[in-house]
Amino acid sequence: MARHFDAIIIGTGQAGPSLAARFSAAGQTVAIIERQKFGGTCVNTGCIPTKTLIASAHAAHLARRGAEFGFAVNGEVRVDMKRVKARKDEISGRSNKGVEEWLRGLKNCTVIQGHARFESSRTVVVNDEVLEADKIFINVGGRATIPAFPGIHDVPFFNNSSMVDVDFLPKHLVIVGGSYIGLEFGQMYRRFGSEVTIVEMGPRLIGREDEDVSEAIRSIVELEGIQVRLNAKCISLAKRDNGIAVSMECKEGSPEVSGSHVLLAVGRTPNTRDLGLDRAGIATDERGYITVDDQLQTNVPGIWALGDCNGHGGFTHTSYNDYEIVADNLFNADHRRVSDRISTYALFTDPPLGRCGMTDAEIKKSGRAALGVKHPMSKVGRAIEKGETQGFIKVSVDAESKQILGAAILGTGGDEVVHVLLDAMYAKAPYTVIQRAMHIHPTVAEFLPTVLSKLKPLA
Ligand SMILES: Cc1cc2nc3c(=O)[nH]c(=O)nc-3n(C[C@H](O)[C@H](O)[C@H](O)COP(=O)(O)OP(=O)(O)OC[C@H]3O[C@@H](n4cnc5c(N)ncnc54)[C@H](O)[C@@H]3O)c2cc1C
Repeated sequence: MARHFDAIIIGTGQAGPSLAARFSAAGQTVAIIERQKFGGTCVNTGCIPTKTLIASAHAAHLARRGAEFGFAVNGEVRVDMKRVKARKDEISGRSNKGVEEWLRGLKNCTVIQGHARFESSRTVVVNDEVLEADKIFINVGGRATIPAFPGIHDVPFFNNSSMVDVDFLPKHLVIVGGSYIGLEFGQMYRRFGSEVTIVEMGPRLIGREDEDVSEAIRSIVELEGIQVRLNAKCISLAKRDNGIAVSMECKEGSPEVSGSHVLLAVGRTPNTRDLGLDRAGIATDERGYITVDDQLQTNVPGIWALGDCNGHGGFTHTSYNDYEIVADNLFNADHRRVSDRISTYALFTDPPLGRCGMTDAEIKKSGRAALGVKHPMSKVGRAIEKGETQGFIKVSVDAESKQILGAAILGTGGDEVVHVLLDAMYAKAPYTVIQRAMHIHPTVAEFLPTVLSKLKPLA
């Protein structure tokens, strides 16, 4: 006999717990299943641990720059990785515990620990028990991709999950992958005191951004002493007496980089292969992402997929937004859609990159008439006062409607300031609204009206 619920949620990532709370509040019964840690990637191995570690690295970096700001630190700034990790464990652990306690305290909510698998389109098996519901929500997230590099099984390597548990300082960390995760770990470990080499297969770092953004980020990390190797083809791994060698075919530089440790940061894979999706008849694309419509319903009525496993995001905010879309459709008859949202995210290097909307390359490809402006952070008062003048503010607008098409703010506060532009995009307001707004002095955001007065046809 199957145990019946109004809803079953698989996974406690960024969408599942809030959805469980909605069912609970509506007086409906819900079972939520987690096979590992409550809170999923963001809480345990993603955003929270990395941003906590980045904060430690930033503090060490500023301490080393003490003389610039007028203070002295007696002796060399040394990072105690055990204490850094303990701080991270405390902050991340608090969130993990908070999610579990929250779920266990919800009325009508049954929390089950174990691996869930579909048995049919209405039933899920967990710990040999069959659960049944009219509505099933999949929020299983993803994991670090393990690439099929030759030698991968002969050497130890870190991924994002194991890397956040490191409590020692690697002498030389070689990071394969020069995108968001690789760059954040790279700068962090350089600031902790490791030698760092980033090996990127593509022709530039963070390849989905505009070329000028990639170039600026490369200069920023190189200035801190990070070695960058681009166009690295045919990567293989091998053991060496003093560590691990990463071999590659490259037009420039040595064909091998040896380090004490290797971190693989080459993308994410959805956790959908061991879910029994075929038993429920749920369709995926060729990379294993669950196929969903604009309201996140799968091809099987009564089954939804939210978060990283549907391939429509890859961020905590996209997963949470998926929850809002599903909940508003189900509980409020508010027909929200995925296609209504505007792409936005940040790279949390120092300085950070805040992004919203289209890149300039995408705008040009679309063929629309656009205006653009780029303003260096070295001419932003607040950045000068803080001694953080790297980067630029870049905004593009539609020449006809005057609506903002996209922005990249690489600079101090860029991850926050970009929301001024993002919200104007949601409001479908012309950029002139921001131009006429009075902003607080001295902030980075106060420069947006001035920057927008310099728009020219996008070259
Ligand atoms: C290093 C790193 C840094 C990141 N930094 C940021 C950032 O700064 N900002 C940002 O927005 N995003 C960031 N992300 C991405 C973000 O963490 C994810 O996009 C987000 O956590 C996705 O959430 P989710 O809801 O899809 O699922 P997840 O958080 O991945 O959770 C899925 C849960 O489902 C469970 N599960 C899987 N299969 C089963 C099963 N069969 N049965 C039961 N349970 C199952 C898993 O154990 C897991 O707990 C980062 C990611 C990484 C790796």
